[in-house]
Amino acid sequence: MNIFEPHLFRQQFPLIIQHEKAQIDQHSLNPALVYLDNAATTQKPEQVINSYQYYYQNSNANVHRASHQLSSKATSAFEQARSSVQKFIGARSIKEIIWTKGATESINIIAQALARNTLRLGDEIVLCASEHHANIVPWQIVAQQTGAVIKVLTLNNQGYIDVDSIDNVITSKTKIVACAHISNVLGRINPIKSVIERAKHVGAISVIDGAQAVAHLSVNVAALDCDFYVFSAHKMYGPTGVGVLYGKEALLESMSPYQGGGEMIKTVSFTQATTFNALPFKFEAGTPNIAGVIAFSQCIDFLAPLLADKKQGYSLYEQQLLQYCYQGLSQIKPVKFIAEGMPDIGVIAFTLTGHHNHDVAMALDSYGIAIRSGHHCAMPLMTYLQLDGCLRISIAAYNTVAEIDYLLNCLHSILQEEGGDNSVLVKQGKAE
Ligand code: PMP
Repeated sequence: MNIFEPHLFRQQFPLIIQHEKAQIDQHSLNPALVYLDNAATTQKPEQVINSYQYYYQNSNANVHRASHQLSSKATSAFEQARSSVQKFIGARSIKEIIWTKGATESINIIAQALARNTLRLGDEIVLCASEHHANIVPWQIVAQQTGAVIKVLTLNNQGYIDVDSIDNVITSKTKIVACAHISNVLGRINPIKSVIERAKHVGAISVIDGAQAVAHLSVNVAALDCDFYVFSAHKMYGPTGVGVLYGKEALLESMSPYQGGGEMIKTVSFTQATTFNALPFKFEAGTPNIAGVIAFSQCIDFLAPLLADKKQGYSLYEQQLLQYCYQGLSQIKPVKFIAEGMPDIGVIAFTLTGHHNHDVAMALDSYGIAIRSGHHCAMPLMTYLQLDGCLRISIAAYNTVAEIDYLLNCLHSILQEEGGDNSVLVKQGKAE
């Protein structure tokens, strides 16, 4: 694909197209499904789905045990995927790319294989107020194990990490700084360059949770100069159960293994100490998710050029949908955005004055619209914002202006059904 064509892109997602066909077959005016829960997980393109079938029918064998040709074939596709990820995020070496189950496991590896062995009583771990539980709980566990203390970076009114809090909170006591590139609730691109620089200045390790960033931004870990960067395949059109832990080679080298088993060893004996495999295999105990990793490489192949070249129009289209949705919501009087101003990516969180989040989400579901309500695995953020939860619309590049119009009109109907002062202004139209 040379230039991004929203219609052609959408056609690649069978689950979405299947619902579109059902609507046409049933002569229905309303879509059977409008999927706007993409920050939770994206739908999968047919390349990814087909890759599973192809792999199991043509190349299924265990990897790195190459005494036969089938294993060589599987290993070559598996390692090719690692090289694709290395290039995708600009890592210096394939040794720096560890396959995991997802961002959550990647962070747990850093916490247990590095922080647990290096933190001392009173050392500080700095997180941000808007972190996902995946980037809080592993640090709480390691803080309890080591006697380290957790400190929190504050947010400004727009929902970004408050740059002024960086120098105050990250001090000579800080040993780890872990924060999200983009919050899964606020949709803001955090000033992580400043965070990473400050962490480096005080000699702390920087961990960036890129789970919400990789589908929307071109990420270059060498340019960011962070120590670790983690993400999950399933939020960037890839399969569930596959994630990446990027770490600087020297740091990964210094860490002890996270799990023991086959594949991660060099020698094992009952009389001498077991020795460990080289990077990246030292952190990949047991048979990995081979089919998932290979399927993931398919979506890197199509996403990488779209993200790398702004002229392709993929990011522009995402921005158009975001703007259109944000402006439409702004015209609905009871809508209260949880932070000031439009988010940077298509993750829009809000409440509706006088209406329960869950009721609204359920009512939208009855119209075939999937959005999320609740704390979004960010309970400390809800406390920080003095909310007991919120609604979240999250957009992907297969969504359309017509779907946003439908969402806005359904919200309008729901508010009218529920009564109250809901002066709603929604118009059908096209985003330019
Ligand atoms: N961090 C952020 C910002 C996320 O949005 C998520 C997923 N919602 C995670 C971490 C955890 O990802 P996973 O569940 O795929 O491990």
